[in-house]
Amino acid sequence: MIIDIVKKYEPITSEQIADKLNLTRSALRPDLAILTMIGILEARPRVGYFFTGKAPKNLISERVREIKVDTIKAVPAVITENTSVYDAIVTLFLTDVGTLFVTGEDGCLSGLVSRKDLLKIAIGNADIHRMPVGIVMTRMPNIITVTPEESAYEAAKKIVDHQVDALPVVKVVLEGNQEKYKIVGKVTKTTITKLFVELGQI
Ligand code: ADP
Repeated sequence: MIIDIVKKYEPITSEQIADKLNLTRSALRPDLAILTMIGILEARPRVGYFFTGKAPKNLISERVREIKVDTIKAVPAVITENTSVYDAIVTLFLTDVGTLFVTGEDGCLSGLVSRKDLLKIAIGNADIHRMPVGIVMTRMPNIITVTPEESAYEAAKKIVDHQVDALPVVKVVLEGNQEKYKIVGKVTKTTITKLFVELGQI
């Protein structure tokens, strides 16, 4: 109702809005503060409130495009390619994650294993104590990655579009003329859910 009143009568003072709603000015103060803070209304001193024309939906999309992966990324669990499938499963439990990122001898991203990749191999007849994760992992160049400069929106979109639980956050390094990826973090469904909760709080 406040937004509708401001749209119709702008510029309008808080006393005038309060009058129209049969409320006191102080009762309105928190609502006006929130509407101003999130950018729906603009308060000009001694003039009154204006409608900025931004719908809440646009504000959310603007915000998730502004937030960089660098500020939301989490700590990744990383193992090497020669780690046994058995040790990888133990690491999954110890680090309380669902996806392990794998590095090669050069210390750069070479693949990843999800919990279902590990489950699949564990229910077969494989000797999981001797089998290295390098054999069962999803391998580069088939890994979907994000960079720290990409937005939270872009990361979430990749998770949804590729139907995966986690993305490694990588920095590209050049070795000779070969591009390699250093793992600097991860963005997972949990990361995005936490951000969603944060944005939902007023
Ligand atoms: P789960 O297999 O436990 O449901 P995911 O949905 O994340 O977990 O993984 C589905 C498949 O996609 C697995 O085989 C996994 O190796 C692969 N995968 C997971 N994350 C990525 C990624 N970022 N890029 C490419 N492949 C991935």
